[in-house]
Amino acid sequence: MIPYGRQFIDDDDIRAVVEVLKSDWLTTGPKVQEFEQAVADYVGAKYAVAVSSGTAALHAAMYALDIESGDEVIVPPMTFAASANCIVYQGGTPIFVDVSSDTLLIDLDKVEEKITPRTKAIIAVDYAGHPCDYDTLRKIATRHHIAIVADGCHALGAEYNSSKVGSLADMTAFSFHPVKHITTGEGGMITTDNGNLAHRMKIFRNHGITTDHRQREDHGTWIYEMIDLGYNYRITDFQCALGMSQLKKLHDWVARRRNIAARYDIAFADIEGIKPLAVRGNVHHAYHLYVVRTGMNEGDTERTKIFKALHEYGIGVNVHYIPVHLHPFYRNKFKIGPGLCPVAEAAYQSILSLPMFPAMSDADVSQVIESITKVVRSFA
Ligand SMILES: *Cc1c(COP(=O)(O)O)cnc(C)c1O
Repeated sequence: MIPYGRQFIDDDDIRAVVEVLKSDWLTTGPKVQEFEQAVADYVGAKYAVAVSSGTAALHAAMYALDIESGDEVIVPPMTFAASANCIVYQGGTPIFVDVSSDTLLIDLDKVEEKITPRTKAIIAVDYAGHPCDYDTLRKIATRHHIAIVADGCHALGAEYNSSKVGSLADMTAFSFHPVKHITTGEGGMITTDNGNLAHRMKIFRNHGITTDHRQREDHGTWIYEMIDLGYNYRITDFQCALGMSQLKKLHDWVARRRNIAARYDIAFADIEGIKPLAVRGNVHHAYHLYVVRTGMNEGDTERTKIFKALHEYGIGVNVHYIPVHLHPFYRNKFKIGPGLCPVAEAAYQSILSLPMFPAMSDADVSQVIESITKVVRSFA
């Protein structure tokens, strides 16, 4: 089975982890800062805060903005649940704004009508690795004095007008889960140019305590103060060593993903019943996912048949995502459901994510193309 995504670990990665396992610091040691600096430099941000997951990164961003009960945060539904869960962790209310049908990115024409005096931020999800329209987002955010948090979990290495995702929003969250562009097993990071927000997130990831173990040891003291309620969202040093080693390969891996996408684009251009999402001219797409609309007719039954047929051919296509507002938790808690975001709901009926990861061979790509062509034509 060719999966839709998977990690790639080589001997250099293993050596980097083993070296840290033999050192004095398994966690909260020097590798954390090194990895933070390397990611900040890579995306062109002043600060980076490493945490235990992409979800923790999003939660830290909501905390740093002081999201609390009564606050509203705008978020698209075509994303992983964590993009909205982070708002609810802080007691805030997610306001789902529908997506554009060609890119499945948040529809910026529909954002302003949802802004109220209680709106504090917009979470911009760079779905599939395609950056949102950050110029327009910035205009909206400035006009209404609200913050932009990018959920860049799909978009490490992506660019908008030649600037990297991670440097475009007030804060950007990344994930290092194994299916993402680089992995630390579990892990995440927030990048920002705002030193105050970075400082607050560093305290938040360590129980709300102002110093870490290593800092106290350096200063020869046991005294620490817990100034706010935080969490243990720390990442280990051996994970950060893995992240450093993976980061060196990111450039080539994004190039390989783009190369696979280009082959898919050409192969599917003339096939009725399979339509890749649109890509804007001013972006460098990082292709965490390669998403297509399938079927001659929109509708869940045809897509489900295509999904099953492809799995029988050994092609591990997947569906990203069930719109978040349709999950029982959101329906029950916020009294929302079908009809709230019709474009996302309709898109969900027809989308498939095709295998896309740097270690795919050219033969794998050919096999995916042949199988999909055969299956989709059989439904024509
Ligand atoms: C993966 C992902 C997350 C969560 O990241 P974890 O590291 O798995 O916690 C959040 N948002 C999006 C869009 C993701 O793809």
